[in-house]
Amino acid sequence: MESLSESPSKQEIELLPYGEKYHPYHNKYVDFWRQSLADPMRFWDERARELVWYRTWDRVLDDSNPPFYRWFVGGETNVNLNALDRWMNTHVANKVAYYWEGEDGTTRVLSYRDLFREVNKFARALQDLGVKPNDTVTIYLPMIPELPISMLAVTRIGGIHSVVFSGFSPSALADRIVDAKSRVLITADGYWRKGKVVELKKNADEGVRLAEERGAKVDKVIVVRRLGNQVAWNEGRDVWYHELVSKYPENTYVKPVPRKADDVLFILYTSGTTGKPKGIMHSVGGYMVYVYNVFKWNWDIRPEDVHWTMADVGWITGHTYIVYGPLLNGATEVMYEGAIDYPQPDRPWQIVERYGVTIFYTSPTALRMLRQYGDEWVKKHDLSTLRILGTVGEPINPDVWKWYFEVVGRGKCPIVDTWWMTETGAAMIAPAPGISLVQLKPGSATFPMPGIEADVLDESGKPTPPGVKGYLVIKRPWPGMLLGVWGDPERYVKTYWSRFPGYFYPGDYAVKDEEGYFWLLGRADEVLKVAGHRIGTAELEDTLIKHPAVAEAAVIGVPDPIKGEVPVAAVVLKAGYRPSEDLKKELIDMIRTNIGPIATPQAILFVSKLPKTRSGKIMRRLLKDIMEGRPLGDTTTLEDPTAVDELKRAWDEFK
Ligand code: ATP
Ligand code: MG
Repeated sequence: MESLSESPSKQEIELLPYGEKYHPYHNKYVDFWRQSLADPMRFWDERARELVWYRTWDRVLDDSNPPFYRWFVGGETNVNLNALDRWMNTHVANKVAYYWEGEDGTTRVLSYRDLFREVNKFARALQDLGVKPNDTVTIYLPMIPELPISMLAVTRIGGIHSVVFSGFSPSALADRIVDAKSRVLITADGYWRKGKVVELKKNADEGVRLAEERGAKVDKVIVVRRLGNQVAWNEGRDVWYHELVSKYPENTYVKPVPRKADDVLFILYTSGTTGKPKGIMHSVGGYMVYVYNVFKWNWDIRPEDVHWTMADVGWITGHTYIVYGPLLNGATEVMYEGAIDYPQPDRPWQIVERYGVTIFYTSPTALRMLRQYGDEWVKKHDLSTLRILGTVGEPINPDVWKWYFEVVGRGKCPIVDTWWMTETGAAMIAPAPGISLVQLKPGSATFPMPGIEADVLDESGKPTPPGVKGYLVIKRPWPGMLLGVWGDPERYVKTYWSRFPGYFYPGDYAVKDEEGYFWLLGRADEVLKVAGHRIGTAELEDTLIKHPAVAEAAVIGVPDPIKGEVPVAAVVLKAGYRPSEDLKKELIDMIRTNIGPIATPQAILFVSKLPKTRSGKIMRRLLKDIMEGRPLGDTTTLEDPTAVDELKRAWDEFK
């Protein structure tokens, strides 16, 4: 760490804690941001020129057919050129690209050169199997190096990948194969999860069977051998990955296929927190330019950094912050296969210590889980290499933020809370220590990224005054934006561009404070309206989670004849605490004092788990369906169906 002592942000970090009034660098960031908006075409033109292209663009932005904005039109490139090829004649070639660790303790280290070779061999193999530019390839792999290798091999030959999270059921896989019209599937024999073998090939076989029943045709299933467990084999259709690539010499080279900047790089389905997942399409040029820059800005990335995004590549967080962001920056990334609390709750801290992780990025749901196990698990490890901590996925409760800052970061690491979504490609509102760190406030994602103009509007589309809640909007196109929804252009226009004409509508509820900081308050459709007051679910949950007995909480509004709506809370207690009437009363009192008597919950239901998506987000819409007695909406992305049954029982008992 000595070599960092001269660097500006080491100095900035020492200026924390976050509570200090005006950080001296605050204005430096805001100045940079203002400049980026003053001449955005020039700004993005310059950013894009830092990368390698086969042909430069004729126009930075084609906005002739809104909202189908197209970036860097006329430009041609391939993401491989920038993520792999351009490093081969530099010192990065022999640098570690991935430190991989299996749940069972197996490890692998891949340099950029190793990755380049693997990708080239597999790219040639895919070509020889008949995969052509613009073909979609579905990738259903666990967190093993072959996952990024497959993504890069597909994009290298001009194909489009659709990664399906390996924890998804055969039926969810089938839906995605059918929707994406994939004829090739890449999967594995199995993987470890909480000490048990997950028989992935079995799920893949069943998924393909269902997909074919639903009209798809899958010609080839490529199987990576991760565990060596027994698998069923479909002769003629199934091929082993290792047998396939071993046919090609180490120096196999496939020229990255030139792609138009506005071609599709990949499809990825959203997590399904609010409804049926949407196939989000990202572009070859815009996504690459945005992700390359935002990764740098968020993490102040330096050559010696070891970055670890503790998420699954099956989500956008993994696409951007495990695969494309690090590789485009020549950074070293950690990739971990298994459960974060296996075999013990200190697994993440052990990994940080082992690889000397300097930047650690995870989600509030993971942090709430790790916090619940107690501080001793964290304090057992030497985490002194950490210099920046990040979070994404849900609003982070200020209490959890402080725990992260104080216990994990020893009061020294800024918390980079990144607000964004599958549709945006990379972070949109977040601190940018890579430019200049601003004064932090626990629970605020701070300011928009360079080139991003955001605001908070009321029902009628007028900006809300400071401190008044409203709907978050993005006021101009940006390179990382989605191209559209796969196969459904109308849904694209309707979902994102119709609520406030001319603006991108994420569907999130937010507030801007007096100093212009953004606070994200959860889903706009999850706002409660109690006796005319609009209360975000996040505000109530933040209060509940302050209680020492509470591990997690989810609040929704149920209809009430007098007040319009009243809150109902589902609460999960930390280990060692038991539900009681006294505890209920304490929680209700906390809400009455912190928010006001108007927000008094009608019921507090103690449960052992909350219904969550596979990506760990609380599915409040299911709570609402249960409590309003409706049939449950799309549940294909639900993590554990028993959570729903438990809630139903608790609610029926209450009634
Ligand atoms: P679906 O669109 O299918 O309902 P989803 O919205 O959960 O699923 P994602 O794209 O994975 O799918 O998640 C994006 C959403 O996550 C955002 O709209 C926002 O609600 C939430 N989110 C992400 N990061 C943050 C953050 N830092 N703070 C608050 N909320 C966040
Ligand atoms: Mg969404």
